[in-house]
Amino acid sequence: MLKRCYCGGEMNLKLRTVIFAKKVNINNVPVYNCSDCGRNDLFPSVKDDVGKLVGQLGARPDVGEIPFEQVHEWACVLSQAFLQGDSLQAKEIAKATEERIDQLLDLWLIASSLKDEVWMTEIHNRLSQLSAPYLPS
Ligand SMILES: [Zn+2]
Repeated sequence: MLKRCYCGGEMNLKLRTVIFAKKVNINNVPVYNCSDCGRNDLFPSVKDDVGKLVGQLGARPDVGEIPFEQVHEWACVLSQAFLQGDSLQAKEIAKATEERIDQLLDLWLIASSLKDEVWMTEIHNRLSQLSAPYLPS
């Protein structure tokens, strides 16, 4: 278990499709879900970025799908970790995160040796998405 619900039940981490304005499917959004009362809480580290994304979509978005794992590193890491099993434990999340950070650091070294500033900035942004804590305080 990763988090306890207000009702006392156990919350587990899942990837869900969030439907915005009945038009846009945002896929693979990490949420904590309580199996007892059905409560859903956005994964704390993606909360701000989901907010930003929804803000960019505006009040009248076009119908479409957004793969959130391409928007946010946490959705990317967690969707990778879910390939290993249905129920995620903190240990598996930590391992998947470490692997992804290693990948990004390798990319950063390549970008840096090419002096590709745009690419370096992009990788830096992705790394900082992952530096937010993943366990609820
Ligand atoms: Zn609950």
